[in-house]
Amino acid sequence: MKLNYGEAVTPPGVTMLARLFRLHGLLVASHPWEVIVGTVALTVCLVSMNNNLAASSQMCSWNECPKVEEKIYSGDVIILTITRCTAIVYIYFQFKNLRQLGSKYILGIAGLFTVFSSFVFSTVVIHFFGKELTGLNEALPFFLLLIDLSKACALAKFALSSNSQEEVRENISQGMAILGPTFTLDALVECLVIGTGTMSGLPQLEIMCCFGCMSVLANYFVFMTFFPACVSLVLELSRESREGRPVWQLSHFARVLAEEEDNKPNPVTQRVKIIMSLGLALVHAHTRLAAEQPAQNRSAEGPLAMRLDSGGTMRPLRLTSMDLEQLITLSLALLLAVKYVFFEETEAESSLSLMSPIISSPLTQKPGVVGDRCRRDSPGPKPQTIASRALATGPASPAVSRPKLPPETGEKAPAESCVSCFEEPLAQTPCVPQSSCKSEARTLEECMAVLSDPQRGPRFLSDKEVMNLVSSRNILNYKLESALETPERGVAIRREMLSLKLPVLSALAALPYKDYDYSKVMGTCCENVVGYMPVPVGVAGPLLLDEKQFYVPMATTEGCLVASTNRGCRALSLSGGCRSRILADSMTRGPVVRLPSACRAAEVKVWLETSDGFATIREAFDQTSRFARLEKLLVGLAGRNLYIRLQSQTGDAMGMNMLSKGTEQALRSLRQRYPDVEVLSVSGNYCTDKKSAAINWILGRGKSAVCEATIPANVVGEVLKSSSASLVELNINKNLVGSAMAGSIGGFNAHAANIVAAIYIACGQDPAQTVGSSNCITQMEAAGPEGQDLYISCTMPSIELGTVGGGTNLAPQQACLQMLGVQGTSPSEPGENARQLARVVCGTVLAGELSLMAALAAGHLVKSHMAHNRSKTNLREAPSSKSEAAA
Ligand code: NAP
Repeated sequence: MKLNYGEAVTPPGVTMLARLFRLHGLLVASHPWEVIVGTVALTVCLVSMNNNLAASSQMCSWNECPKVEEKIYSGDVIILTITRCTAIVYIYFQFKNLRQLGSKYILGIAGLFTVFSSFVFSTVVIHFFGKELTGLNEALPFFLLLIDLSKACALAKFALSSNSQEEVRENISQGMAILGPTFTLDALVECLVIGTGTMSGLPQLEIMCCFGCMSVLANYFVFMTFFPACVSLVLELSRESREGRPVWQLSHFARVLAEEEDNKPNPVTQRVKIIMSLGLALVHAHTRLAAEQPAQNRSAEGPLAMRLDSGGTMRPLRLTSMDLEQLITLSLALLLAVKYVFFEETEAESSLSLMSPIISSPLTQKPGVVGDRCRRDSPGPKPQTIASRALATGPASPAVSRPKLPPETGEKAPAESCVSCFEEPLAQTPCVPQSSCKSEARTLEECMAVLSDPQRGPRFLSDKEVMNLVSSRNILNYKLESALETPERGVAIRREMLSLKLPVLSALAALPYKDYDYSKVMGTCCENVVGYMPVPVGVAGPLLLDEKQFYVPMATTEGCLVASTNRGCRALSLSGGCRSRILADSMTRGPVVRLPSACRAAEVKVWLETSDGFATIREAFDQTSRFARLEKLLVGLAGRNLYIRLQSQTGDAMGMNMLSKGTEQALRSLRQRYPDVEVLSVSGNYCTDKKSAAINWILGRGKSAVCEATIPANVVGEVLKSSSASLVELNINKNLVGSAMAGSIGGFNAHAANIVAAIYIACGQDPAQTVGSSNCITQMEAAGPEGQDLYISCTMPSIELGTVGGGTNLAPQQACLQMLGVQGTSPSEPGENARQLARVVCGTVLAGELSLMAALAAGHLVKSHMAHNRSKTNLREAPSSKSEAAA
């Protein structure tokens, strides 16, 4: 169902007008310098033109106007006093409202620019019409009454909600599209309403109204040109290049975008304003035309000037009334200032502390704790309990408990503030921009309309609304990353929803998810992402291999492993290093196909084993990749099933996807020749992938490598704290006889899998392939003239790895590959990087074997693991006896 909510309620005329204002906003925001210089130039022109005009006495100046010479009526004094007091109260409330936005930036930018520039422009316009500023003293309160900071503020919020300069422009134009038409109509109505004051007959009121009209126009002009240009320019100049994030970026201001609906004018009010302005325009036209007849001779001075001349006789202003007026105004200003400074601060603080209990919780007192990031900067969403929260997102597990305080996550607190959408944020509650927080969720239909509207999209939905859409399957949970504006928000919402179903609500608190490049993960590496797992990465080395040094990254949580491997590397380095060779390089895929009978299956087997059959299959297979080239077919038969093991080089890729793709194509070709071939599976476990299998051990899979070294007796003694004889004996009894006793396939080693797994995790390999890749036979012999030296070799026939594709595309994994100088495609020959990595794996396994075997021979294993591997935390936490546990 594709609803377009925006278009359904917006008449075409209004849309056109909004588009016009949007274009105008874009133009102004994109060319701030031109607009600012143009406006300033226009101002200067107005001033100089006024001088010329004044010189030519074509317009009356403020002082020349008869009314300035008038003394003020006592009625005027009362009006003046009321206006001043109203202006003070109005300004007070404006500041109070702006303060609730919680941002000194908005207050500063909007307030300063609007007041200052409007004042400057008003005075210039007044000056242009030949009025000196002497009357401004009286008119100033009136001017203040006309300043509406909220619109400038809203526009500033639009701009500040942007992440980049492009977004600044886009958001200013969007703000302009929303605010422009309303502001234009408001300016028109204000001018017409205030204009009626120029017909009042009260001299001071007429001055003020005249000034007011001009101020409204100047204010409008500033808002439409100078102000957006300045905001755009200021934000561009203050953009911080570090981390590509602007200093001014305040994501919670993006709330204004989500509140577009709120910013849109009420159509009823708009219609009333239009009708009112038409009526007022008629009144003005009638009055002006009537007044024009007796004042034809002064038509050059314009209608406003003419009305200004219509004042009555002047009377001196009594000093006592002026004193009283000033006293009243001053007292009110002082009273409000005292209230604002002393009482408002306290009120705001107490309301904040009442509103957010989490602020005072220990959570927030620790820097770096997740909850610390969730503070409320402005009036937050309505309180919502965990129960209602569960209702919004589906049933919670009965085992759900109150959130525990999370441990420190180590995540750095972000510069920008963010909030949870819930009154009682859970420890693991992800921080989301306030833009996403709406206290009341809209209906599913409304939300779908927002989602499918290209102008709005998911960022106009609150988290709660997105969760409702997921619960109703309007957004599929697994598509959250691509359905929302950023993958990170998708991950955050999935965590939020999952947390409610977990036995401990804060279970995910320490699993980080922020600041991760999910674009590299989506559709490639992982689905239903709820975070990423940081694993410590140690380094072993240098490993002196084939006369080159390698520093080997190892991701592991097993204490001693890196240290032990490092010791093996040291022993190798002191022995002149180790040497390696690649024996074979081809990945395999073994589909299973079925034929009507065993005899028919045998016929097909025979054909596949002919050069003609192989060539046909190879032709189909080779089409599928630039790197995969079919080398060999091994065909096994079981009854009417055929198992075909296709073998191919895969360049620098590990090659499983590559092989699968080629195999599918090859099977299609086979079926063309033998239509009765039924493909049961593209993988028939004859490959064999990720399972222990003799076929890999015997025939090899991926890279087959061998590595050897001779360790002099002194190194065996001093570094490995052992002797050649005891190591050889141990190797025979443990790695050969012991494994044979256990019926091992390819497990004739001490701990090859330890090293393979650690390097695989660090370097983005498929960790499950540790199964086959750890196939290794470690052999040791006494060497040297007196048999005191140690000869060691490791043979690994099935190292399945690559330096392109899969997890090697992720940045941290690429960093580890770069440590070894093998990241990506090999510049010399495709596959060379992957083969080099296989040699490193084999060499490091050899180092690991040396060290562990030495530790075992010397009886050090348990001792060192107790010292470096046993978890102290667990020891301390675990109850020592059953009675203790019960207690
Ligand atoms: P892949 O990323 O699927 O394929 C490698 C891609 O890199 C191909 O498109 C290849 O081009 C391109 N490429 C560019 N330069 C290359 C170079 N120098 N050498 C080789 N290829 C190069 O990676 P894969 O190794 O085939 O598959 C690895 C993924 O498969 C891992 O994520 C692993 O977890 C997963 N996997 C899949 C299965 C399965 O059954 N499908 C089993 C186990 C693991 P071309 O398009 O020209 O080939």
